[in-house]
Amino acid sequence: MLKCRSVWRRLAPLARASSTVCRQNARRTGLNNARIPVREPAAHMSTGPTGGGGRENLLYFAMVGTTFIGAGIYVYRTLKEDKERYQDRINEIASRPQKAAAKEATLLHPEPQAVEATETKAAPETEPQAEPAVGEPSPATPDSEAPVAPSETAEPAPGGAAESVAVPHKLPSHTPYLLIGGGTASFAAARSIRARDPGARVLIVTDEPDLPYMRPPLSKELWFSDDPSVTETLRFKQWNGKERSIYFQPASFYISAEELDSAENGGVAVLTGKKVVHMDVRGNKVKLDDDTEISYDKCLIATGGVPRNLQVIDRAAEDVKSRTTLFRKIEDFKSLDKVSRNIESITIIGGGFLGSELACALGRRSNESGLEVVQMYPEKGNMGKVLPEYLSNWTTEKVKREGVKVITEALVKSVTFKDDKLEVQLKDGRKVRTDHIVAAVGLEPNIDLAKSAGLEVDPDFGGYRVNAELQARSNIWVAGDAACFYDIRLGRRRVEHHDHAVVSGRLAGENMTGANKPYWHQSMFWSDLGPDVGYEAIGIVDSSLPTVGVFAKATEKDTPKAATEKSGTGIRSESETEETAASTEPSSSPAPAPTPEKQKDDYGKGVIFYLRDKVVVGIILWNVFNRMPIARKIIKDGEEHADLNEVAKLFNIHED
Ligand SMILES: Cc1cc2nc3c(=O)[nH]c(=O)nc-3n(C[C@H](O)[C@H](O)[C@H](O)COP(=O)(O)OP(=O)(O)OC[C@H]3O[C@@H](n4cnc5c(N)ncnc54)[C@H](O)[C@@H]3O)c2cc1C
Repeated sequence: MLKCRSVWRRLAPLARASSTVCRQNARRTGLNNARIPVREPAAHMSTGPTGGGGRENLLYFAMVGTTFIGAGIYVYRTLKEDKERYQDRINEIASRPQKAAAKEATLLHPEPQAVEATETKAAPETEPQAEPAVGEPSPATPDSEAPVAPSETAEPAPGGAAESVAVPHKLPSHTPYLLIGGGTASFAAARSIRARDPGARVLIVTDEPDLPYMRPPLSKELWFSDDPSVTETLRFKQWNGKERSIYFQPASFYISAEELDSAENGGVAVLTGKKVVHMDVRGNKVKLDDDTEISYDKCLIATGGVPRNLQVIDRAAEDVKSRTTLFRKIEDFKSLDKVSRNIESITIIGGGFLGSELACALGRRSNESGLEVVQMYPEKGNMGKVLPEYLSNWTTEKVKREGVKVITEALVKSVTFKDDKLEVQLKDGRKVRTDHIVAAVGLEPNIDLAKSAGLEVDPDFGGYRVNAELQARSNIWVAGDAACFYDIRLGRRRVEHHDHAVVSGRLAGENMTGANKPYWHQSMFWSDLGPDVGYEAIGIVDSSLPTVGVFAKATEKDTPKAATEKSGTGIRSESETEETAASTEPSSSPAPAPTPEKQKDDYGKGVIFYLRDKVVVGIILWNVFNRMPIARKIIKDGEEHADLNEVAKLFNIHED
């Protein structure tokens, strides 16, 4: 025992010295890896306490050596075990998604609606920075740079849901913001809600199979695309040559409905292929067509409208109905594109903007394929309900030049199917034989939910009656085509246009978050008869009102194509700028009916004022672009003008 103690006394300083060297070396190594410290254990040993014979020294070395070897073995084993544990953990993590997916499949199997919604989307990704600024007057801009045209079948993006750990979720039984309808107004509302309430959880329910998309290109640019796969990609070249998708946002913009409750920063989810069939307004909840119930804090009805049909077709035999297209949705575009490639003759019934646009689009195609395109309507000229007669006549000539056989003052008496053709019999005895009909005869606002919700429908304009803040009842707002609203400037109205859907959707969204703002921003609408002729309009444009028109000769720059090229935008309502106008001389006195020969030049471009009680309530800018803010201001001011030629000078139509 004594011997041991004395050996330890001799060994201890040595061991301390040795460990000091190690620490110093370690420190040096740590500070300068390039310099390898010189180990001089002998020198260290020599600095240690003296004494002991050669045998004792040998013993010290043996003991120190054993200690080092033991420590080495320990370190090796620890590292090896750590490595094994690490590998086990990696394997376990790697197998988690399969396990979770299997578990999720078992859990979700009895609930088909949940399965369908899980399939929908790729990686949850909210883009709060993409939201418009609060109160920003510009319309919600569709994402022009959307990298892919998303669809229900879109593959999840790399790094998306497939790579994350799947956690089973159900559809939310409650959502703070419920938007019924997946169209333009709902999408605009979702954006403005998120702009004012960045963590908001917004659920859009739509009975269409698609994510929110814009409808205007369905009757315009998509028909002029050179891409043979345009019906699949739904990407198209705008008049300005830039390519974009008709979807407002790619799939990755949205989160899945099942994740809405748990997403840290909230988000916008779209439940596709589901219809709201009942509203319990007092209980703040709705029922879907699969009996799912969802309660809400605030609800927007943005159900748009359903294309009207002619009664004679509605009552006709199946042979007639199956050869008739009512044009509104993506699927209508796809089927009309296909049908029109396989027939000899097509007839468009309706002379409004939709009928005229489709006639021009198909007419152009007829030049290549020999397809006969007929357009018929009760008015005297194209867009006769909107344009003053002289301009409507001019437009009719333009449509004819596009290869369309136009039949004016045509009232359809019956449609039958005979000898493999449809026969359209007109009331004045004229007959047209054709293969297919497109009925573009207006829209019925979709008010299916009025009864269960106890909401008032406007007897004159149709649509849900709402106040100036677009509210129908407590916690319920209505926007877009379905809303009959009180315009604080122009009175009660219902508007069926893209920009109105954007403006009213945005306002409803703001008011759902407590803004309490009235409808004040006049929306505009536009129509293009192909890339060469187009107009933009604002306010009440009804050809039964007195009008005053001021025109100038158009140049090559005065076309929708040139305008979008210049502004760099595709959707016209996005191109609005706050331009101010300089004074210029008006070109002509108000609206004398010029001779047909003169019309061609005189109506190249111009401004048409619509008057009610001598006040301008509507303005059309004919082949005049990017001047909408001026028109908006004139309507907003609501003043009587002694000389509208002076007012027309604000639009600079002679300057370009
Ligand atoms: C081919 C075409 C071209 C157009 N071109 C122009 C143009 O050039 N300029 C212009 O200003 N305007 C144009 N418009 C009009 C414009 O697109 C509409 O005014 C606009 O889409 C209206 O938007 P919204 O959101 O009110 O309705 P919609 O876009 O119709 O959306 C309503 C959605 O709600 C869904 N829905 C309805 N009921 C339910 C329910 N109970 N449950 C769930 N979902 C439901 C519908 O299926 C639909 O998807 C065009 C329209 C069409 C069809």
